[in-house]
Amino acid sequence: MSILQGKVEERDIMTLEELIGRVAGCHACDLSGTRVRFVPPEGDRRSRIMMIAQAPGEMENLEGRMFCGPSGKIFDELLEEAGVCREQVYLTNLIKCMLPKARRPSRRHLEACGRWLEEEIRLLQPRILIPLGFQALKSLLIRQGVPRPPKKEYRHLFGRYLQAGDLLLYPLRHPTFLLFNPDKREMMSREYAELKKIIAKYGEG
Ligand code: SF4
Repeated sequence: MSILQGKVEERDIMTLEELIGRVAGCHACDLSGTRVRFVPPEGDRRSRIMMIAQAPGEMENLEGRMFCGPSGKIFDELLEEAGVCREQVYLTNLIKCMLPKARRPSRRHLEACGRWLEEEIRLLQPRILIPLGFQALKSLLIRQGVPRPPKKEYRHLFGRYLQAGDLLLYPLRHPTFLLFNPDKREMMSREYAELKKIIAKYGEG
């Protein structure tokens, strides 16, 4: 079973609202103990463009909103520079509860939580997926069964289109990257600028 191929065990979830309600009350792994406020997906729930971040951070967990901390500020700036906004895409997390001390998700967490993302993909039928950062990209490559490059080579995959089996990806660096690498602003702005074209091309229908 690949990381994102866990199945929701009860009857199929029919609507996104139902799915979100189920995730809000999920206790399938130990990370439910970190949840202060559930962080629901954000943006347009009918969008065919899905952006996938890693997991809620501390601020997100406290406020119950995606990207509301320092990386959220960067995220909004990059979107604004690109001439787009959150409401034009569907924004969700790979792992739905906070990872303490920004830990990497373990395989156990990915397997437990991957079923929710799998259901989101099934319900939304996105035309393009935009993983934000290494973990989200790696999980999608595993899901699609495509060869993965060595970790240090992932940087070459950001900011370019990638056909992964039947999924079209446009991986972007996570906004947090800019917190630690402020000199990469121009490069990230260039990569995020493509979002305008992506929304024009894949945003409808
Ligand atoms: S991280 Fe995912 S699987 Fe674990 S409790 Fe939270 S929603 Fe459930």
